[in-house]
Amino acid sequence: MIEDQPFKVRSWYGLPAEIVVGRTWHWVRAAGLPLPHPGLVDIHLHQGIPRREREQLTYWHELGHLETLPLALLHALALWLTGRRRADTPWTLRLIIGTLAWLAGWELAAEFYTMGRAGQDYARLYRKAHPRLPMGLLFWAGMSGLTAAGTLWLLGGRRDK
Ligand SMILES: [Zn+2]
Repeated sequence: MIEDQPFKVRSWYGLPAEIVVGRTWHWVRAAGLPLPHPGLVDIHLHQGIPRREREQLTYWHELGHLETLPLALLHALALWLTGRRRADTPWTLRLIIGTLAWLAGWELAAEFYTMGRAGQDYARLYRKAHPRLPMGLLFWAGMSGLTAAGTLWLLGGRRDK
């Protein structure tokens, strides 16, 4: 894998994009726009995995963000429509909770995609990694928690009206 060299890809729904996997930075740019997601998450998640394999996982993760973009947009729409009705809470707080739940959900989707692409290697690499902190566990527990809590909280607003 060539560092900092953009890969040209096309999503299943036809959107052309570029993926860059550098030593410290990686991103996916679709139609000239970078897709917003915290790359820090992936760096920590892939701690302890050898560089070549880590870059491959990162590439799939970035591609996963692109391929699951329609799902992420549907999630954002659902959060937006239900969150609007939660008039009992300041809009800034709703926006923060909604954004966190949305980004966490998208991280999960991208990592599920990575898991699917890596197949059996996924579990093997993580077993071998031995990071200082159980990053995998923190990631899955943290992201699922944020997604579920934020989404359920916003959906719960429906009952208030
Ligand atoms: Zn990500």
